[in-house]
Amino acid sequence: MSKRMLAAVLLLAIVMIFPGCGGKNKGDVLGLMYHHLVEDPAQATAWITTPDELRNNLTDLQALGYRPLSLEDYAAENYDPMGDYFIVTFDDGYLSNLTLAGPVLEEMDIPAAIFVITGCVGTPEYMTWEDLRTARDGGVFTLYSHTHSHKSAPDMTTEEFLADAAVAWDELTTHLGEGEHKILSYPNGAYTKESMKALRAAGYEMLVIQEKPKWFREKHHGRLLLRVNVPGRGADMKEIANYHRTRCGVGKLH
Ligand SMILES: [Zn+2]
Repeated sequence: MSKRMLAAVLLLAIVMIFPGCGGKNKGDVLGLMYHHLVEDPAQATAWITTPDELRNNLTDLQALGYRPLSLEDYAAENYDPMGDYFIVTFDDGYLSNLTLAGPVLEEMDIPAAIFVITGCVGTPEYMTWEDLRTARDGGVFTLYSHTHSHKSAPDMTTEEFLADAAVAWDELTTHLGEGEHKILSYPNGAYTKESMKALRAAGYEMLVIQEKPKWFREKHHGRLLLRVNVPGRGADMKEIANYHRTRCGVGKLH
């Protein structure tokens, strides 16, 4: 057998042992980013979805071999590294997460994380602290920080950004108690290298963004959850999964 044939046979064996993972010995952890929901499909946009679309998205992903994973279990590394998982997340803290997404997630037995802008709590369309406690106690949602002001990190000094994150953390722990994991989703997906280092030093164990910077190193900047925005109309979950798999170095689904 030639060396080239041997390599081909070995590659085939790996692909058969690790279906969907190509030559890389790991599965995929796909963060799904949602924001607001509405009942009326005519009002859905790139950033606003409906309960039916959400149900379809999660059904499609499970048909592609993905399993639901909670952000808590991801943070605790309590999952099979060879498996393909999705993590449902909602940014900002809209009341519709509780009223419209909650029943779908409960019915499907799928956990989700909400990143709360603490400065928006109790304002129109957003949850109150009472709503957030209801969400937390319902068994579907876990709650984390999306900062207090929702200002982009690059528009502030590192000190200002850290102070803003600290206000949010104080508010969350005052109203909801200490969570198990200190995790922050960057407003507008915009980060800086300095703020990542500073958050890590301040005890944040995971940061949530959309695109991984080239300079990112887990040992310096902590752990990341990378997400893909799921548009509210006609999302192709296979396309979304393959986009994410490609950028993470995981073999594509076919
Ligand atoms: Zn946001």
